Amino acid sequence: MSYLSDTDPEIFNLIEKERMRQINGLELIASENVVSKAVLEAVGSIMTNKYAEGYPGKRYYGGCEFHDMVENLARDRLCELFGAEHANVQAVSGSQANQAVYFAFMQHKDLMMSQDLSQGGHLSHGSPVNITGKWYSVSHYGVDSETETLDYAQIADQARKEKPKMIVCGASAYPRIIDFKAFKEIAEEVGAYCMADIAHIAGLVAGGAHPTSVGVVDITTTTTHKTLRGPRGGAIMCGEENAQAIDKSVFPGMQGGPLMHVIAGKAVCFHEALQPSFKEYAKQIVKNSKAMAEVLIEEGLDLVSGGTDNHLILLDLTNLSTNGDHLTGLEAETYLGEAGITVNKNTIPREKLSPFVTSGLRIGTPAVTSRGMKEDEMKQIGHWIARVLKDVCKNKNSKAEISEVKKEVEAFASKYTLYPEVS
Ligand SMILES: *Cc1c(COP(=O)(O)O)cnc(C)c1O
Repeated sequence: MSYLSDTDPEIFNLIEKERMRQINGLELIASENVVSKAVLEAVGSIMTNKYAEGYPGKRYYGGCEFHDMVENLARDRLCELFGAEHANVQAVSGSQANQAVYFAFMQHKDLMMSQDLSQGGHLSHGSPVNITGKWYSVSHYGVDSETETLDYAQIADQARKEKPKMIVCGASAYPRIIDFKAFKEIAEEVGAYCMADIAHIAGLVAGGAHPTSVGVVDITTTTTHKTLRGPRGGAIMCGEENAQAIDKSVFPGMQGGPLMHVIAGKAVCFHEALQPSFKEYAKQIVKNSKAMAEVLIEEGLDLVSGGTDNHLILLDLTNLSTNGDHLTGLEAETYLGEAGITVNKNTIPREKLSPFVTSGLRIGTPAVTSRGMKEDEMKQIGHWIARVLKDVCKNKNSKAEISEVKKEVEAFASKYTLYPEVS
């Protein structure tokens, strides 16, 4: 870092500030994590200097022999990790991975069925503001309004009526197990491709803490930077029968030169996820989420679907009254942020407010689990969250309680380094 501090102190200082923010606060954004030092080193390496359009052994540029080896290792390790027949590691993000799959198997205006964004889905699953929603026709399914969980019989009925070309499953804000076999059966019955997007839960799947979609559905997409704990990026897995179509769709279909430094980081991440300790890590993420959920319920807060099976909790704030109105997701996010607890506002089933305000809060345990925190620490954090939310309902303008919690959070968080593996 010292070289950067000499040549570009402005950027260096901002990175330092961000480092302190990460150390002193509690990162509970469900889609974030803290990568290992090894991943950081690979991503910050000279692998970024090379153009490597194409695939190992079939590049459009010379000098790719070491890049070929790195990309082959990344693909082989990903296949081993998930038991996949084929892997493509070039997608620069989860959204691009999804677009590549749609582009491989659907024509303009073909119909896809996917989970509604406001009920846990993702922008790249055909949201009207996203290219996927503008280019393809979309029929959304949601969660059952009583149980707030996926109702597979209802989804099957919808699929029989709509006859989609592709059924997409997977979510960004769904706290329960997803039944990939059920989705595949529905897709098979109506003759649709079945794609599972495991962006959020890939680490749980790799560590055996959530059932897998690989070998069950036709194509699985993922990000590498969420529970999987790798660099920012995407990846696609499928059977041999779809391998060529997927590879052609990513390149030359969607992208130019791959981010080879990130692919090196992905290879390191997959190697880490193949270690026995990663299974413990994945299980701890879920144990931590359940421990925090227990405390929040004890504190009288409402959890969408009544609890969690994975790394995230969705709080329903509609019973937290502030003078008639209820506390919004935006307010909750802001107040908790002031207390050093980073979370994000989120829509909930039957949402009445705009996505910029919302009635919910999404809380995730991957990043704090990476810092070595366990159930007891989660309970403590759960109590802090409840304390802030309840206090701001009573007196919105007094920041005394928030400053008190902030002090406690800082003292607590700074005891957990970002990198417990290096002193
Ligand atoms: C995060 C996420 C993505 C996309 O990730 P980006 O890398 O930000 O494009 C795709 N699908 C789901 C379900 C996600 O949660």
